[in-house]
Amino acid sequence: METSRPLADTHALVTGGGRGIGAAVVRELARLGASVSLLGRTPGPLASLAAELSEAYPEQSFHAAPADVTEPGPLAAAVSAAREALGPITILVNNAGAAWSAPFHKMDEAHWQGMLDVNLTSAYRCSRLVADDLREAGWGRIVNVASTAGLTGYAYVVAYCAAKHGMIGLTRALAAEWAASGVTVNAVCPGYVDTDLVTRSVEAIREKTGRSEADVLAHMASQNPTGRLVTPEEVASAVGWLCSPAQAQVTGASLPISGGEVV
Ligand code: NAD
Repeated sequence: METSRPLADTHALVTGGGRGIGAAVVRELARLGASVSLLGRTPGPLASLAAELSEAYPEQSFHAAPADVTEPGPLAAAVSAAREALGPITILVNNAGAAWSAPFHKMDEAHWQGMLDVNLTSAYRCSRLVADDLREAGWGRIVNVASTAGLTGYAYVVAYCAAKHGMIGLTRALAAEWAASGVTVNAVCPGYVDTDLVTRSVEAIREKTGRSEADVLAHMASQNPTGRLVTPEEVASAVGWLCSPAQAQVTGASLPISGGEVV
């Protein structure tokens, strides 16, 4: 194994790979030597990041795989196309997700199902689509990007919390089932991270409460005991560590990356 490129000869698929935490994970896995398929809904950012990384890492390959993780048919086709382009998939990062908020007494079933679909069922679907690749390779990594909302409850995001708790259950059970297979399954649980997801939440809270943007943002940052938002790169670094061949005995873990909240 090359120590500077421990993921050389692996093919990683990252969902929601065009921006935010997903894009930082794509960059980190590329830095570690992986070839990467970037899956997401918006072709432009996926293609431009893939092109940038192809230039930066000419020995590796990068493939843009446009698909919505809530649409099983197109998702399966995109995963097949990724496999055809770069070979069997041995690393999967289930990162695509969204956070909607509503008071529980006003939350309808479409909200509930939407949160489960994009945050939890998508991880089941993608894991199922690459399961044969991982088992046949006898080595692999699944990392689920959950949340501290998978470890504790927060007000006004009941469905999001339920979905992220479900993701931790999926992680633990699949890790147990595949413990002796060479495939590890872990979750990372970020606190508030500096991405568009937080920007949208700040905007929604500002509109509902009339508080200033700076005030809402400061409150969010204070939820991480370190007093600042987590960076996407800090999450990506933990994902890269979990994917490294050296971490063969870390499986079924749910790692908080939250500056000390819910550890
Ligand atoms: P983001 O909104 O910047 O990125 C979300 C990504 O998921 C985007 O690339 C988006 O296009 C993709 N996505 C959303 N719905 C999709 C769909 N139906 N099909 C395909 N792709 C889809 O936010 P982010 O903060 O980078 O979020 C990434 C993950 O991190 C999410 O699962 C989120 O729940 C989790 N997370 C975020 C925070 C935070 O504070 N930002 C904290 C904990 C966990």
